[in-house]
Amino acid sequence: MTRVLLAEDDPTISEPLARALRREGYEVDVHADGAAALDGAKENPDLVLLDLGLPRIDGLEVCRRLRAEGRTIPVLILTARAEEVDTVVGLDAGADDYVTKPFRLAELLARVRALLRRTPVDAVATGELVRIDSEGRRAWFKDHELQLTAKEFDLLRVLVREQGKVVSREQLMREIWDTSWFGSTKTLDMHISVLRRKLGDDAAQPQYIATVRGVGFRFERPDPE
Ligand code: CA
Repeated sequence: MTRVLLAEDDPTISEPLARALRREGYEVDVHADGAAALDGAKENPDLVLLDLGLPRIDGLEVCRRLRAEGRTIPVLILTARAEEVDTVVGLDAGADDYVTKPFRLAELLARVRALLRRTPVDAVATGELVRIDSEGRRAWFKDHELQLTAKEFDLLRVLVREQGKVVSREQLMREIWDTSWFGSTKTLDMHISVLRRKLGDDAAQPQYIATVRGVGFRFERPDPE
């Protein structure tokens, strides 16, 4: 699931906005101050929606720090301070786009979608093996498009999102089959096996999707070339 971090201290904005984003199918984490937002950003959300006037650490500073850490995650600024927009979106703070308050919900959602569409292109530039287009629900492996069922696509997307980290069976069942794990993961194993085949992976010695015994699966990071 695409994850959006929403940093906004005004609940009259953050509550309806979070609801609208969830209706669009995003998973939303709301943080009411800049320090909490920076902490939340460590969870690798797919997009950050950032209010400028935040308590503890200002939104501008949050954005600067994210970029200083070399993070390329898309940042969309929410601001009532239209005069600051140049600073924010310019090289100074490194935000990608902005929406001024009061904003139209449809407009904001369109900007969110546009920024999320850009991400797969960045992934290619960094030499990733798999490129995922969440919006179009398409996936490419080494530049050829994979023919995936809906569940295979979701599974690949989660594994690639967590690339290099183990994803537990429990989490996969919850995220993809929307159910709590109650013992049998035969369905999951079947999907993993099909996915491996489609990636040309060897089940005995998988190169891409590793089985982590007793825990789950890990999508391996490609070797740096
Ligand atoms: Ca504010």
